[in-house]
Amino acid sequence: MNAVDLSSVNAFVPGQVDLGADEAHLIEERARLLGPAYRLMYQKPLHLVRGEGVWLYDTEGRAFLDTYNNVVSLGHCHPDVVDAITRQVTTLCTNTRYLHETILELADRLLATVSDELSHMMLTCSGSEANDLAYRIAKVRTGGTGVIITETAYHGITDAVSQFSPTLGPAVNLGVHVRTVPAPAAYRTGPNVAARFASDVEAAIADLKRHGIKPAMLIVDTMFTSDGILPDEPGFLQGAVEAIRRVGGIFVADEVQPGFGRTGSHMWGFQRHDVVPDIVTMGKPMGNGQPIAGLLAKHDVVEAFGRSARYFNTFAGNTVSCAASVAVLKVIERDRIMDNSAKVGAYLLEKVRALVPKHACLGNIRGAGLFVAADIVSPEDGKISDRDKTTRVVNAMREDGVLISACGADHNILKIRPPLIFTRENVDFFAEVLDRALA
Ligand code: PMP
Repeated sequence: MNAVDLSSVNAFVPGQVDLGADEAHLIEERARLLGPAYRLMYQKPLHLVRGEGVWLYDTEGRAFLDTYNNVVSLGHCHPDVVDAITRQVTTLCTNTRYLHETILELADRLLATVSDELSHMMLTCSGSEANDLAYRIAKVRTGGTGVIITETAYHGITDAVSQFSPTLGPAVNLGVHVRTVPAPAAYRTGPNVAARFASDVEAAIADLKRHGIKPAMLIVDTMFTSDGILPDEPGFLQGAVEAIRRVGGIFVADEVQPGFGRTGSHMWGFQRHDVVPDIVTMGKPMGNGQPIAGLLAKHDVVEAFGRSARYFNTFAGNTVSCAASVAVLKVIERDRIMDNSAKVGAYLLEKVRALVPKHACLGNIRGAGLFVAADIVSPEDGKISDRDKTTRVVNAMREDGVLISACGADHNILKIRPPLIFTRENVDFFAEVLDRALA
């Protein structure tokens, strides 16, 4: 068995629990055939064979409530998306070098969700590629290379992007042109989160300059997911965005996690902060499982790049992925998905908070829409992060039929991120299982 990086959040570690013969065999085969870089989740990895709505089923037909899925955020195998994909794949699958209406319909629909200043869409196959492309555009636009991120950020896996994704672990070096700032965790540091975040970004800019590095971009996940999910107070990004623009850099909003209505109040996380980014990157839920991602950009930001570099990305923007994504946007509108996210998300927050008096290990609980975080801390002083207990809770819930995971620098934050079609009944079941796991 290959060595496993224990710093991975909620990663399977061989030898901790007994596995069935089938699972043990599959795990060995993965190691043999896929090599040492892959990770499985949970002490007892799941072998899933089917999904429907908010439910996943294993080989024995056991159902798991999926409370950890922002990819199929309209639910597993959503019929509208399945239908759109099926119709398109049985008609035509081609690329962006041919004329086709669907990519234009997608651009029209996406651009209609943002300020007019953002006027172009470019497509990729993954969030990592979208951030990679954003960085290339930022470098051409600004003439700089410096990147500012938060301490526990994750933006993806390409060579360039992994250099500004500290959560890949200490063995993956940050670039010499990269500076980190503390995550804007208002609940830990008290009020004035906006001023503090802006001054941290200013300090990072000053440090880049001192080293002769011109700032190119500030990039943040606008819900700070891997930093521990930090929604409050809306608006706190404004000073930091102004700071990067004052020195000629651009602001990139990474919407791979919060985008497509998850926060309930807005389609995009940056809109909660009342800023207009220079580039917005997106991915995961964009095709409800189809590999489609991309970015929206201001014309003047992308202009020089577009003139100097042709852009063709074989699979990105293929007709099938575009059809899937158009279907996603139609369902979000028709089924009032954001409304559901806001209402059921508020109920979820209420139900998790209601467990606080019963379980002293529950610390701060926060969220926006169907994006909720619960800190697990020492019951004695309520401050020290309890990573081991968090791992035990996540795995106890998995045994009890509910899937979540953990995040944050200390790996002690329950990350609750169900599909956006979650119902109040789903929340009730979730809260029961969480209650049992905490006990
Ligand atoms: N940005 C953020 C904020 C992400 O969470 C992720 C994926 N977890 C990415 C970028 C990279 O997306 P992908 O895995 O599609 O490359």
